[in-house]
Amino acid sequence: MVIAMTDVSKTYRTAEGPLKVLDGIDLTLKSGESLALTGESGSGKSTLLHLAAGLDHPDGGRIVIDGAEMSTLNDRGRAALRRSTVGLIFQQFNLIPSLTVGANLAFHARLAGRHDPAWNDTLAKRLGLDSLLARYPEQLSGGQQQRVAIGRTLAAWPKLVLADEPTGNLDEATSAQVLNLMLSLVAETGAALLMVTHSLKLADRLDRRVHLTAGRIA
Ligand code: ADP
Ligand code: MG
Repeated sequence: MVIAMTDVSKTYRTAEGPLKVLDGIDLTLKSGESLALTGESGSGKSTLLHLAAGLDHPDGGRIVIDGAEMSTLNDRGRAALRRSTVGLIFQQFNLIPSLTVGANLAFHARLAGRHDPAWNDTLAKRLGLDSLLARYPEQLSGGQQQRVAIGRTLAAWPKLVLADEPTGNLDEATSAQVLNLMLSLVAETGAALLMVTHSLKLADRLDRRVHLTAGRIA
């Protein structure tokens, strides 16, 4: 099991009082499996992904990533696990503006001590980025930027890829193309994929789908 969430709950403190967002979530994913997480805006999809990435703590329940229980790790331990095991892809691309496309692509793999020039070249070619390596992120289209973000994540061979509405900022045709590339490359690495989307059409392309509503998975 790459990730196992058991009875996970999360309540935010807000000015209006406590807001229970997740309430007894159970979810598991094996290597090579892809799962779409759907739900209305505000249903807690991003919260669940942040917990899975160790970017925030649940109030209750257990989250085990690649055999390590998150609550037993300190901040350093969680950061190390994130670097070595987890890959994150966001709607806003989050590329480093001062680095070229080539340097962005290699960035996480270098941090993780897993830079492999041959795999890096393969990713650049497959993602149609090989003629853009000397450019900067601001000189790319949205679809091109997201292809860099996907390549950067997969260059480090994560066991778990967490993607939060990865095509949310792209038009429909570009979304389909980027999703196809992401799915085929993730499958090649054998990683488990947890993808948040509010599109049922995109969700249908993954192995399984769960729907988040009223803090629970249906
Ligand atoms: P989704 O990704 O499904 O749109 P989110 O997980 O972002 O939903 O948010 C779920 C709910 O929790 C929303 O009502 C949102 O306003 C609230 N929320 C998210 N983050 C915080 C936070 N840090 N503090 C307080 N409330 C939050
Ligand atoms: Mg969200």
